[in-house]
Amino acid sequence: MEYYSLNGNAPRVRFDQAVLRGIAPDKGLYFPTEIPVREPAFWNGLGAMEVPDLALDLMQPFVGDTVPKGRLRDILEETLAFEFPLVEVSPGVFALELYHGPTMAFKDVGSRFMARCLGHFSAGSDQQVTVLVATSGDTGGAVAHGFLGVEGVQVVILYPEGKVSDIQERQLTTLGKNIRALRVRGTFDDCQAMVKTAFLDPDLEGAVRLTSANSINVARWIPQMLYYVLAVRALGPGAAAPVFAVPSGNFGNICAGLLARHMGMPCAHFIAATNANDTVPRYMQTGRYDPHPAVPTISNAMDVADPSNFVRIRELFGDRFPELSATLSARAFTDTQTREAMKTLYDSYGYVADPHGAVGYLGLQAFRDTYPEAPGIFLETAHPIKFRPEVENTLGLRLDIPPQIQTVMGKEKQWFPVAHYEDVKAFLLDSAAG
Ligand SMILES: *Cc1c(COP(=O)(O)O)cnc(C)c1O
Repeated sequence: MEYYSLNGNAPRVRFDQAVLRGIAPDKGLYFPTEIPVREPAFWNGLGAMEVPDLALDLMQPFVGDTVPKGRLRDILEETLAFEFPLVEVSPGVFALELYHGPTMAFKDVGSRFMARCLGHFSAGSDQQVTVLVATSGDTGGAVAHGFLGVEGVQVVILYPEGKVSDIQERQLTTLGKNIRALRVRGTFDDCQAMVKTAFLDPDLEGAVRLTSANSINVARWIPQMLYYVLAVRALGPGAAAPVFAVPSGNFGNICAGLLARHMGMPCAHFIAATNANDTVPRYMQTGRYDPHPAVPTISNAMDVADPSNFVRIRELFGDRFPELSATLSARAFTDTQTREAMKTLYDSYGYVADPHGAVGYLGLQAFRDTYPEAPGIFLETAHPIKFRPEVENTLGLRLDIPPQIQTVMGKEKQWFPVAHYEDVKAFLLDSAAG
């Protein structure tokens, strides 16, 4: 299988090139040329398969022979080496907890998979790959952890001084090994601008082999389909097809769920739940795509005005709006509603949700009456501890600090100070020479 650019003006490439490039030369997102469909017997037999075998079966067509089968199975086994529990919160309503990985956010799976693929692709080359990424919080931690110790890959993370939480900064700055953090005197947008400048800098070309670990990379996007498959597996063979409600920002996660649906996975409906950044809910109502500027909310990992992956969703449905709207509904919720949902979940069912999971729950509730027979699954994308002040204040409780977070609390933060782009450039050239 190959990948084509959604801007339609770049050559088709294989998986390895799509991963190394991240984005096509015409700035389009890569999209697979085929989507393999699995028969009902496959989906009915999920429970009989080991997780790594199941993952291998589904992922192999997308990877082709760019990674040998045995290696791909190892990569998937390592990527998925933690739990993805499906917790019944109330009768017929389930939380799919995607936060049991090393950084306690769902981006761990995509980051770990991409890191290992990139490690494999650069193993045959004598030049190291440097992953350069700007973060406003969670992405950096997941990328840093995902790439930790991967041979042939250096990771350089730019983050804005004073604008990430203490836990997030520790997750970026205490790992050591092949992970280096640059603390930028500026905003997240400044960090992003420096990354963009570096990618276009002719002085770095040839000296440093740069790549990005952006969420539009196919190696981060596609493996997320496994969450949905694992949920269907956990429901068991007799269960009715579920409804999935997905708290969405850049729409990569839900797009992966829709990909699983196109592969034949049983499901009744998808609900995209957003915060006040409601470009997609408005689109689904009016058929007009009209992004407004982003506004800050308490579910800040979803503060995205113009979701990059929505073009992939449109492509999946051949840009046929009636077919898309038969499968996908979208709804936006305010911070007040989100806090109310967190309280309901806690007071009525003893379930502690983070603000993102609570938005997903609201999305599910909004459509419960339309699909009364279907098991309802909302995705819980971050551990509540990652949004500690908000969760503790809203629910009036103290959260225990899980071991993954405890291990970074005692360690010393290490970072290099950056004031302007020249500092980043010097750093990259220096580390390439050393
Ligand atoms: C990134 C993120 C999201 C949004 O996921 P998308 O794939 O960008 O839609 C939701 N919740 C949390 C906690 C996140 O970190």
